[in-house]
Amino acid sequence: MAANERTFIVFLGPPGSGKGTQARILEKKLGLPQVATGDLFRYNLKNETELGLLAKRYMDAGDLVPDEVTIRMVEERLSREDCAPGAILDGFPRNLHQAVALDEMLASYGGVTVVPLFIVDDDTVVARISGRRVCRNCGAVYHVEFNPPRQDNICDACGSELYQRDDDRPETVKNRLYVYYKQTGPLIGYYFAKGLLEEVDAMQPVDDVTAALEAALAKRGVTV
Ligand code: ADP
Ligand code: ADP
Ligand code: ZN
Repeated sequence: MAANERTFIVFLGPPGSGKGTQARILEKKLGLPQVATGDLFRYNLKNETELGLLAKRYMDAGDLVPDEVTIRMVEERLSREDCAPGAILDGFPRNLHQAVALDEMLASYGGVTVVPLFIVDDDTVVARISGRRVCRNCGAVYHVEFNPPRQDNICDACGSELYQRDDDRPETVKNRLYVYYKQTGPLIGYYFAKGLLEEVDAMQPVDDVTAALEAALAKRGVTV
């Protein structure tokens, strides 16, 4: 690998397909930070920044936050020191314009390394999202049935309270899926044509998905 090459993994898949769960597992194993645009927006919202307040109405509706602010936020995040070896991008890009912007950002680092595509059906997505619980403090992700915390509603990692995201309500989930198929779906073709796409069966238990992901990454020279 050339000296200026870094590893940029783009997780592609519908909301609730398990991208965040896997990114949190793999960031430790790979030594690459998880860059999750949804988490960054929620962090801004919690701190009532201008960006957070702007993003809120789009997130509440399940629509995409405008490209201009999203792209600027990612550019700033990727310029930080901890991204020196690369990053796991979770939730970005989400449309073609963002994908092209990412290619431009990474042009001098060898571009995107690999794009695992999380394959799950809609029923699984709905079941996963409706039981999702998130830690208010550290953002750790649980599921009331599939991945429960040791103590009801308490984060295993930091002891804080868990909550259900506003946009995980059934009315919003429907629009988020629609937005995924309409706006993010074209990225499957975009990355396939670049020879970067790796399909991963994400309907399996968490550990098996991790193993399948690791196998997909290894095909592209990314090893844990
Ligand atoms: P999920 O993990 O369920 O897919 P995220 O936490 O990634 O959801 O995203 C939550 C919301 O944040 C999205 O519905 C959208 O409003 C906003 N968002 C996240 N990433 C992006 C992005 N790349 N572009 C525009 N909006 C985004
Ligand atoms: P995404 O980041 O793609 O929106 P998450 O990682 O937040 O997805 O996962 C959505 C929900 O599904 C969470 O409640 C999580 O605990 C649960 N989950 C994640 N992976 C699996 C899996 N392989 N099997 C069962 N449940 C899962
Ligand atoms: Zn926590």
